[in-house]
Amino acid sequence: MRDRIAAASAGRSGPLPRLIAVSKTKPVDMIEAALAAGQNDFGENRVQEASVKFPLLKRRYPQMKLHLIGPLQTNKLRQAMALFDYIHTLDREKLARAIATEQAAGQAVPALLIQVNTGEEPQKSGVWPGQADAFITLCRNDLNLPIRGLMCIPPAAEEPSPHFALLAKIAARHGLAQLSMGMSGDYEIAAAFGATMLRVGSAIFGERQIDPVTI
Ligand SMILES: *Cc1c(COP(=O)(O)O)cnc(C)c1O
Repeated sequence: MRDRIAAASAGRSGPLPRLIAVSKTKPVDMIEAALAAGQNDFGENRVQEASVKFPLLKRRYPQMKLHLIGPLQTNKLRQAMALFDYIHTLDREKLARAIATEQAAGQAVPALLIQVNTGEEPQKSGVWPGQADAFITLCRNDLNLPIRGLMCIPPAAEEPSPHFALLAKIAARHGLAQLSMGMSGDYEIAAAFGATMLRVGSAIFGERQIDPVTI
């Protein structure tokens, strides 16, 4: 997979995209095998599940980084801030203000990415493209949050490249470096469109029995 990522990234400048192994629903022994093989970034979409699986692994493998890629409820915020190194799913003002309140109280804030609902799908999380500029400005300038980039999940039935291109364009006009886009079915396309973080689950760990793909 790393060879395919490198090939798909040919012609880009800068480092290769970072591979985030999405381990939701997968047991700790599979995660530990990946850690032993040198994989250091892991993604989970539920705070509850991650807080069962990862605290011990984080002590045993202090170099590992944990990424929250699913929706975050404000009542789980403190738990999430203590466990995750990155939150990819900052998607609304209420959550942004709650993180800012924790930050003002002296809590360390994970690196944040804003989720953009590029397909404007009503059932999916994320700010719509037309609101993205204002939301990014609110988060950075008014709330002083550590916004590192943007994340998207294109509509399942569509060609993903226009969505990846749109996300890259919004990030570029705000000087945001991180682009979290691309999953098992489209990570090579995402890499070609400038992804810096690929969220790949089933292509690494195998198909999931239950499939809580984030909406
Ligand atoms: C589950 C999930 C992934 C990984 O999906 P695969 O198709 O298994 O690679 C990526 N991103 C998000 C937000 C997810 O919920």
